Amino acid sequence: MLYKRSSQLFAEAEKVIPGGVNSPVRAFKAVGGTPIFVKSAKGAYLYDEDGNKLIDYINSWGPMVLGHAYQPVVDAVIEKAKLGTSFGMPTELETEIAALAVSMVPNIDKIRFVNSGTEACMSAIRLARGFTKRDKIVKFAGCYHGHSDSFLIQAGSGAVTFGSPNSPGVTEGTAKDTLLAKYNDLENVKTLVEANKGEIAAIIIEAVAGNMGCIPPAKGFLEGLRELCTANGILLIFDEVMTGFRLARGGVQELYGIDADIVTFGKVIGGGLPVGAFAAREEIMNHLAPLGPVYQAGTLSGNPLAMAAGLAMLKALDNDREIFTRLEEKTAYLEAGIDRVLKANNVTFTINRVGSMISVHFDANPVTDFQTAAKGDNETFKKFFHGLLQEGIYIAPSAYETWFITDALTYEDLDFTINAIDKVSKTF
Ligand code: PMP
Repeated sequence: MLYKRSSQLFAEAEKVIPGGVNSPVRAFKAVGGTPIFVKSAKGAYLYDEDGNKLIDYINSWGPMVLGHAYQPVVDAVIEKAKLGTSFGMPTELETEIAALAVSMVPNIDKIRFVNSGTEACMSAIRLARGFTKRDKIVKFAGCYHGHSDSFLIQAGSGAVTFGSPNSPGVTEGTAKDTLLAKYNDLENVKTLVEANKGEIAAIIIEAVAGNMGCIPPAKGFLEGLRELCTANGILLIFDEVMTGFRLARGGVQELYGIDADIVTFGKVIGGGLPVGAFAAREEIMNHLAPLGPVYQAGTLSGNPLAMAAGLAMLKALDNDREIFTRLEEKTAYLEAGIDRVLKANNVTFTINRVGSMISVHFDANPVTDFQTAAKGDNETFKKFFHGLLQEGIYIAPSAYETWFITDALTYEDLDFTINAIDKVSKTF
């Protein structure tokens, strides 16, 4: 496949946009080559500026769980746009989507909408600090919670892809309030809590990690965190920006039956428009302005187009109770196929998967935390990535990312992908 026009467009973009992109991982720096410029997308497929058709395993990094240009979402946005695109005033629509989200997710009474996952996590931390009157937070190495200052400490995703898990521009003062723990290591967290008794406001975690590849929580790990938080007056924050409305209607809380104190959302909840949200029980949420002293606001928060898209998406997920089973089955089928062909071709690998989040690591050892995720062979990953691109398959351009499976994928698409992986892995 040729990507000539994409290369030309990238060269133009580089003149006026830093690195030619508005979010770093898009630039293909970790895998080499130039990014693909997309023209349109429908269902499971992308159509690029060179006229290529690609099967999409990124799906806008998660939101398009039902496929691109999902008709009810598109229709809802068009209809709303005719009535005005922003008011900065309350609308009935906001209550409707809030009520639906609260009914779908366990253990939350109220939800506030923002414009991105970053904003959701940033606001959740401020709320936790305001509620507990404590300053410190615990985050896990390799987890990504957006690009706000407190979280750019050993962050995953693009931050690690670009070798800057600790970003310049984050002050020492901010960094010292973020304590770093090891994913899946409860003893490590207990030691941190012990050493900072009475000072920790919150522990924030991707309860199923997706920003160092997909890493499931070890048996008992989340339960242990829950107990530790309850015993020490610490709020447990589940960052469900990636997992929310993807792994189950009620996200990881429902999947594993564990209650978080605050939950953050993004991606699917906006149906592909810029939306994030954070939610908790009433006692906590009532600390937010205008009811309480913790300030948080947004000119475009609750934007009618974004809320219309999100509502259409959540309604679709609420109405079809088989969606999450189908996603599980399709991804399990893909996993089995990849496992079969990579073994047949004597490739060294590990596959991690939870529901419709899956990642292939080119290392034989179990991948359970950031350290083990970092051991993957990046040279093999590059060959894998570019080989698949030539076959018309688009996976994330970094070994530290999860694949996001969409229900729009057919079993023919999955077979095509497995065959392509067979072909590509013969060339390693
Ligand atoms: N939390 C998690 C778990 C994420 O995966 C992401 C984005 N990939 C974010 C937060 C930040 O969301 P956004 O990019 O919408 O700011």
